[in-house]
Parts: sequence; C-alpha cells; structure tokens
Amino acid sequence: MNSLKIKIIFILSLLILAVVSTMTTYSLMHEKKENERRLSEAYEQVHRTYNETIRDTVHFYQARAEANFRSPGVLEAFREGNHYALYELMKPRWEVMQHENPSLIVLQFHQANGKSLLRLHKPDVYGDNIASERPMVAYAHANTQNVSGFEEGRQGLAFRVLIPVFDQGIYIGLIEFGIATPYFTDKIHRFAGYDAFFFVNKNSLGHFGEFRESVVVGQYVGIDISLHDESFLQHYTRYHTKLQNDVITYEQQAYDVNVLPIKEYRSHSIGAIMFVRPTDDFAVHVRHTLVASGLIALLLILIMGLIVDRIYSFVTAKMSFQERYAQMILDSVPSPVIVTDGNTLIAASDVFLQYFHYETLEAFKHEHQCVCEYFEEGGTDEYLMPMRNDQRWTTFMLEHPHKTHKAKITIHGVSTVFEVRISVLNLNDTLRYVVIFNDISSMQQQSMSDPLTGAANRLYFSMVYSHAINVARRGEKPLALIFIDIDHFKMVNDMYGHLIGDVVLKQIAEIVSKRIRNSDIFARWGGEEFVLLLPDTGLEEAIGVANSLKEVINSEEFEHVGTVTCSYGVAILKENETGEELLKRSDEKLYQAKESGRNRIVS
Ligand code: GH3
Ligand code: MG
Ligand code: MG
Repeated sequence: MNSLKIKIIFILSLLILAVVSTMTTYSLMHEKKENERRLSEAYEQVHRTYNETIRDTVHFYQARAEANFRSPGVLEAFREGNHYALYELMKPRWEVMQHENPSLIVLQFHQANGKSLLRLHKPDVYGDNIASERPMVAYAHANTQNVSGFEEGRQGLAFRVLIPVFDQGIYIGLIEFGIATPYFTDKIHRFAGYDAFFFVNKNSLGHFGEFRESVVVGQYVGIDISLHDESFLQHYTRYHTKLQNDVITYEQQAYDVNVLPIKEYRSHSIGAIMFVRPTDDFAVHVRHTLVASGLIALLLILIMGLIVDRIYSFVTAKMSFQERYAQMILDSVPSPVIVTDGNTLIAASDVFLQYFHYETLEAFKHEHQCVCEYFEEGGTDEYLMPMRNDQRWTTFMLEHPHKTHKAKITIHGVSTVFEVRISVLNLNDTLRYVVIFNDISSMQQQSMSDPLTGAANRLYFSMVYSHAINVARRGEKPLALIFIDIDHFKMVNDMYGHLIGDVVLKQIAEIVSKRIRNSDIFARWGGEEFVLLLPDTGLEEAIGVANSLKEVINSEEFEHVGTVTCSYGVAILKENETGEELLKRSDEKLYQAKESGRNRIVS
C-alpha cells in the first residue's frame, strides 16, 4: 500500500521536475536571446558613437583650419613660408585650441615641397623634410585632399587630420591636426558608457614610437593605459592571445568586451580599439536561475509530497473503514462466505476460514487458487464442478439462476453439502461475486436418508438412480445393482422383539456402509431390504462385492441374536435396458436366492 504512495510521489516529482526544468530552459533560452540582442544593440551603439566621433573630429578640424586661414595674415605667412610670422599669428590660436581640446597634441604646417614650416607643439624644430619620413604626409601632398587616420609618432598614437591649403587655386601645403587617444576614449565613455583602450599592432609601430609595454595581447600593445586599467587588461591577456569580442569576469564582475580595428590614412588596420563595459554575467545568471529553479522544484515536491501523504492517509483510512465494515458483514453471516472477482479470492468470512481450517485468507490462497478445488462430484448433476460445459462454476451459476446449486465438500473425512448462492456486483468495470455456502447437510440428511439405519432412503435412491443410469450410458460404463434381504427376519422380530430387530438392521447397514466406495449408493429399499448401486462396476466385481459383504455379515456376531444371514440378487445394466427393468431383474435374482435356500448370491 505504501509503495503505491511512493510511486505516486515519485511520478509527480518527475512531473514537477520536468515542468520546472522545461520552464527554466525556456526562460533561459528566451533570456539568452534577449541578452544577445541587448549586447548586439550595445555593440551597434558603441560602433556608431566611435564612427561618428571620428567623422565629427575630421569635420571639426576642417572648420578650425578654414577659420584659421580666414584670419588676416595666416594664409600669407604660410604661402611665403614665413616661420616666425606664422608662429606669432598661430601661437595664441594654438593656446585657445589646446584649451578647447587638451588632447590636441599636434598642429603643424607642411609646405608643398614636403618640408615642415611650423610645429606649434614644437616650434623650434622646422625646415626638415617631414614628407620623406611620413608616408601619410607624402600621400596628402600627392593627392591634395583631406586625409585622416591613426598614426603613431613621437607624440604617441594620435588621430591625424591633414587638410590641403590652396591659395587662389594653387596648392601651397597642408595643415595637420593630431589628436591624442584620450579625446576619443572620453567621448565614447560619455556617449556610450564604455571604457575604451587603444592597441597598436607591433608591426605598425615603425621607428617613431617608444611605448611602455604595459599590456600586450599577441601582436598588440596597449596605448596610454592607466595603471588603474592595467590590472583589468592584464587579466584579459591571461585568457586571450588575440583581441576579440567576449564577456569576461574580473573581480566578480562581468564585462562585455568589444573590439574594432583602427585604421590609418589608407584604411589599413594598424591596431584596435577595445570597448569595455560592465554587464550582467549570463553564466552567473544561469547558475542563479538553476539554483532558484531547483529550490522551487524541491519546495513544490515537498508540498506535493505532503498533500499526497495527507490525501493518501485520508483515503486509506476511509478505505480501511470500508474494508473492515465489509469484513464485519461477511463475518456476521453464520455460513461460509467469499468475495471473488471470478478468478481470485478477495475476501472470506471467518466461518469460511474456520470451516477450511485456515488462519488467514492469505494462507488459504497460498495453497488453493479456488475454493472449487474442494468440490466433489455428487450422485446427481446438481452438484457444482469447477468447470461445467466449459464454464467456470461462478459463470455456470449465473447462467442458471433458477437452479438450486449444491456443492459437496469433505474436510477431514466429514462431508458437507452446501446450497451455494451467488450475487454479482458490477461497479465501474470492477466485478465482484459474493458467494454464500449454506450447509444443508442435516436437512438433506433428514429428507434423503432413512432415520433408523442412516442409509439413503428410497426417495434419494430414485433421484440418484436415474442419474447413475444416464452416466453409465453416456460413458458406456458398467453399472451393477445388488438387492440385499435379511433372511428370516420376521423370526428375529418374533423371538427377540422389534427393538433387537432394529439393532440388527442398523448393524447390517453400518457393515455395508463401511465397506463400499464413496461413489456407491447404499439405500434402504424398505423393511429389511437394502439396495446397493455400484457405478462403473462389472458383474464379476459386483459378485465380489456381494461375496465380501456376505462373508463379513456371516462372521458378525449380533447381540442376543448371534449370526444373521442375507440373500443377494445381483444384476448388471444391459444395453437398452431401463432402470425399472434392471430393478426388476435384480429383485428376481434375490427371489431366486431365497428360493434356492437363502444366504447366497444369485446373479
Ligand atoms: P425371508 O427370509 O423370506 O426374507 O423371510 P423374512 O421373514 O425375512 O421375510 P418377511 O417379508 O416375511 O418378513 C419381513 C419382516 O421384517 C416383517 C416385519 O415385521 C419386519 N420388519 C420390517 N420393517 C422392520 C423394522 O423397521 N423393524 C423391525 N424390527 N422389523 C421390521
Ligand atoms: Mg427377509
Ligand atoms: Mg423381505
């Protein structure tokens, strides 16, 4: 019973686990997609911010260049290659622009012949052929158009904007602005919320740069990395040999890392910019969600277990009451009663168990599959058999509701005849038969036996006789009939009185009863005459039986009377002979035995 409860709890637990894990998986998958969408949106935003910043910077310094050349004297000084005049004119403007943008680290005038006319950031150095050293400058001279891109030089990595200058349509040189990386990192941080770090490919370092190799990822060297950011990036380098997008965890915080190439003037990549922003660690989130789901599932299982346990005890209490109630009713019936489903015994009354000498129903079932194993064949076909006409006894009873069904059962040598009644309960496809065994032995005995001798009476004999004739015919088996008549019994009565005569009658009946088979029928025909019906017995055998009876009776000592003899008429059922005819022939044989001197057998 308890194992059923455990099974139910187990199955429900599996169900809960399945539902919770499906829901968790579904929600995590959904969140993962959502997370990826958020990330890609953030990437787009930071990329846009970066690209816009680059574009705006170019536009901004284009405007600054135009404004400078519009102010009086600047264009002339540049055209004439007048270093001092240009320096004097530009110096205050340089200071203003540096104030405007502290990251502006380079402002240089390049003459069309490739020479440097003025470095505002280093006014003492000029007149050198800078174009021969810097391909970007040579390129701008050759193409006389705006050129921009990242380049590292003596001032470090800077974004360079080179703007050609024309005087009445004649190209006179370039103006160059160089903006250091913090300008970009600050803007990106302000507009997109990302920290940004610049990296330069070692191959692109050229012979200008001298960098503190604070952070190196593969071919890339970090530029302008503050000490504060260094440890974070060192952590990154520990797990990455190249710059790539990733989500990394540093000091229990997840960071979303996104990398974009940075380009030189011909759009060749010379390094990368790395964007870093704190983010939700999805792996941690997954772990937390799993733990939470596990706890929820556990809690649900616990609650479900308690509920099932409650319901179960309630139902079993109810059921056990119903069962006990039913058992009480069974036990209150004075006859053996059983409940069966047609195949197995389900319940049995106390009286039933007592009758069969079993302590419990289980013990009975251990040794018997069916109570019908006890059924004995009676003298007539009103006795139940386990199977009749290919029907189980229960089915047979139900199919013949108007018949009186009897069962003969012998326990420890005591035979009992029961009238068997069956009732059916069919509820929700569950079939129950209630079978009651009413002991009718005493009633049967009274109506079917002779009160003096205890032998069967003539009524009983006539009932059994026709059945025996039919059985013999069907099975083509012999059937013998012996008439027994006490010799000179009248004399016994006359000499010793009726009571002594009665004792002799009883004694003879007893002797015969003891010596015949179970299947033989012994009946008192009337007065001092008996009839013995022997199924499945041939003539020789029947004579044998008569002989042995004769011997025993002859040697018996009857009180007061001494010896008593009998005469025997033996006959065998002939083919096509009726029961009447067989009776008549046996009686004739008896008569012949009497005639020929008594105490003998005639067959
Ligand atoms: P036979 O050898 O020819 O059979 O002689 P018999 O005297 O035995 O035969 P008969 O038919 O002349 O007598 C039968 C007697 O049996 C008559 C009757 O008084 C006696 N009798 C019949 N029934 C009973 C009974 O129940 N008790 C007693 N004590 N005697 C009975
Ligand atoms: Mg007689
Ligand atoms: Mg007689």
